[in-house]
Amino acid sequence: MKEDNEERIFKEVPNGKVGWKSPSNIALVKYWGKKPGQVPANASLSFTLRESVTETTIEFEPASGEGFKLEFFLDGMKNEKFADKTVKYFESISNSFPFIKQLDFKIRSKNSFPHSAGIASSASGMSALALCLCEIERKYFDEFSSDEKFFKRASYFARLGSGSACRSVYGGFVSWGEIEGVRNTSNMFGNKINKNIDSVFDTFQDSILIVDAGEKEVSSSLGHSLMNSNPYSLGRLKQAGENMIKLMEVIKTGDLGGFVKIVESEALSLHAMMMTSNPYFLLMKPNTISIIEKVREYRGETGIQACFTLDAGPNVHLIYPDENKKEVRDFIGSELLKLTVNETVIHDEVGQGPERIAY
Ligand code: ADP
Repeated sequence: MKEDNEERIFKEVPNGKVGWKSPSNIALVKYWGKKPGQVPANASLSFTLRESVTETTIEFEPASGEGFKLEFFLDGMKNEKFADKTVKYFESISNSFPFIKQLDFKIRSKNSFPHSAGIASSASGMSALALCLCEIERKYFDEFSSDEKFFKRASYFARLGSGSACRSVYGGFVSWGEIEGVRNTSNMFGNKINKNIDSVFDTFQDSILIVDAGEKEVSSSLGHSLMNSNPYSLGRLKQAGENMIKLMEVIKTGDLGGFVKIVESEALSLHAMMMTSNPYFLLMKPNTISIIEKVREYRGETGIQACFTLDAGPNVHLIYPDENKKEVRDFIGSELLKLTVNETVIHDEVGQGPERIAY
C-alpha cells in the first residue's frame, strides 16, 4: 500500500474519539493455511453477518510519555489480554500510522456474541480496530479520501490483525485472495462481490447453534501453521481453488443444491485438515455431529436447502434461504435447540457491513 507517512504526524496533538461497529463473517470457502505477511494460502469467500458484531470506540489524547499507552475495556472491564494483543497490533502497524506513537488510547469494546469460541470475534474485533485507526487518519490527515480508498485501507490493515477480518470491512459476499482470471482480487485485502449474485443470497439466513461457548482449544495461528506440515495440504489447496470457482458460479445462478454441496464439503475439509495435522485437533463435539446428521436428514425429508457450515470450532452455522425461515426456525426449535448449551442460538443473516458509531 502506498504510504505518505511524513504528513501523518500531528503538529498539534489532539484529544478525540472515533468508533466503529463491525460485523463478523461466516466463510463458505475456508481460509486455512497462510504464508508470511498474512498472505492466505488459498482464496476464501464469506458473507458478512448482521447481528454478530463488535462495537469499538477509541478515545485518544496526547501521549503522556515516550511512545503510546493503551487501556482496553471489554464489556466495561479492563482486559489485559486484549490490551496486550492490541498493543502488539498497533506496534506492528505504527510505521504506516506514525501518529500512533503520539497518542495514549482508551479502547472500549463489546462483542454481541461469545469471543474466542470459533464465531470469528477476531474478524469483527480486528476490523473494528482497523476501521477506527483509519478513521483517525482520515479525520486528521486525509479528510477528502474516498470511501473506496478508506475501506480498502481498512481491509488491508484488518488483514494484518487477523486474516479473515479483511472480509468484514464490506457487507454482503466478500472474497479474499487472488483468483486466477478474476479482476480486483488480491491477497492484500477483501473484495466485495457486487455483481453476479442471485437475489436469493441477499437475505440468506444464518442461525448459529452454540454447542460450546468455551474458548477454543487451538488458536487460529497454530491451526494455520499446522498446514505447513499437513500431508494433505496440497490437495486441500487445489480443492479450495476449485471450490472458489464453483461457488462463484453457484451464487451467480442461484443453484442452491450446488451451494449446499460446496459449503458442507468445505466445512468438513477444514475439520479434516485439523484431524490430520500433527498434533491433531478434534474440534467437533458429539452434539456438533448430531446436528449435522439432523440437518442432512431434514433436507432429505423436506427438500429445503438448508445446510451447515463450521468454523474452526464446534458451533454450527445453519444457513438457509429467507423464504424457508419459518419452517427452519420450527425445525431448530423442535430438533436442534436441545443439542445446544442452554438452548443458545444466534439468529443472524447477511448484513450490510460496518457502521460508524462515533466521530
Ligand atoms: P474467534 O473464533 O472468536 O475469532 P480467536 O481465538 O481466533 O477466536 O480470536 C479471539 C481473539 O480476537 C481475542 O483473543 C482478541 O485478540 C481478538 N478479539 C476478539 N474480540 C475483540 C474485540 N472486541 N476487540 C479487539 N480484539 C478482539
